[in-house]
Amino acid sequence: MISPFSIARLPRIQFGAGATAKLPDLAARYGRRVLLVTGAHSFDAAPYAAPLLVKLAERGLSCERVVVSGEPSPELVDDAVRQFKGAVIDVVIGLGGGSALDAAKAIAGLLKPGNSVMDHLEGVGPEVSYSGPATPFIAVPTTAGTGSEATKNAVLSRHGPDGFKKSFRDEALVAEIALVDSELLAGCPPALIAANGMDALTQLLESYVSTGANEFTDALALSGLRAARDGLLAWYEGGAAAEQAMARMAYASLQSGICLAQTGLGSVHGLASPLGAYFPIGHGVVCGTLLAAATRINIAALRTREPQSRALAKYAEIGRLLSGRDGVSAEQDCDHLVATLEDWTQRLALPMLTSLGVAASDVGRIVAASRGSSMKTNPIVLTDDEIRQVLQARL
Ligand SMILES: [Zn+2]
Repeated sequence: MISPFSIARLPRIQFGAGATAKLPDLAARYGRRVLLVTGAHSFDAAPYAAPLLVKLAERGLSCERVVVSGEPSPELVDDAVRQFKGAVIDVVIGLGGGSALDAAKAIAGLLKPGNSVMDHLEGVGPEVSYSGPATPFIAVPTTAGTGSEATKNAVLSRHGPDGFKKSFRDEALVAEIALVDSELLAGCPPALIAANGMDALTQLLESYVSTGANEFTDALALSGLRAARDGLLAWYEGGAAAEQAMARMAYASLQSGICLAQTGLGSVHGLASPLGAYFPIGHGVVCGTLLAAATRINIAALRTREPQSRALAKYAEIGRLLSGRDGVSAEQDCDHLVATLEDWTQRLALPMLTSLGVAASDVGRIVAASRGSSMKTNPIVLTDDEIRQVLQARL
């Protein structure tokens, strides 16, 4: 029996090693004036940057540039919109990690309307509904983690005690084209492979057990989880098959974005929002450090309060998939899942929260701010005490 589902708009997807060679032709379909949004150091230092700029110019495209350093703020988006709204940009290309892609997505959304992104951010400000029009946006990820190339939201942050990490979200913001080229991942430092890879893994796992999951997203999430199983540690630990491992993680990340945009996420992302706002910790690190503990506590809560939940069977299934072990019971498969995630957390050297500046006295306010949109699709409604336990396990 397949339950009814609906799938929101997806980008056209161009996946493959070397796919960036197609970028000039793809961009030229929209016109000649390009706004290129990239990371601060990552782009100019990358071996592909100079040849790509030459090829864009040869194709007759003129490029304006916006450089994003760190996680994008509403001010960065507003400044770029102010600077380029008169320039009649035909297409925005975001090329970089999640920060560059999210900034590019928000800028593309607002170049034509010209208003402040604060008008639309969820949970802060007036939450005016977005009515476009958006400028065509091409997303080219250079990390394997956030899946932003396939999602309809741009995450923007303001740091500090009154900080926030919130989404500008609308289906019209989805990229026209997601160009996923695993060759762009070469040279990614191990700490980023670990953090981004754990973000993709978390997004796949949380999508799979989300209350918003369906037959269609389940198939994609399982396919992404298999790719992450075979790619993440292999890429991080290096070795002969690095190219295959990179392609697997590029694929896992893309699938994680496709799934999360349809299903929503869970408690790890619920906690990642305040943690990332109050402390200068990268999103992938937050997800990676919390995933095993959050999964253990979700499973314990389901066993106690909703033992018939489909999510428990799904956790058992992922336990078999990731651990490669077939337990004598679903209960044992769930235990294998938690043990596997704990093992990966260690092998990927994900830090404890205290070493990132989080103190026991911060736990209360983090828990209080964790019930945003992601927490709403967690497979079981957690108590404040259970959410606290997730954090305390990693202090
Ligand atoms: Zn994430």
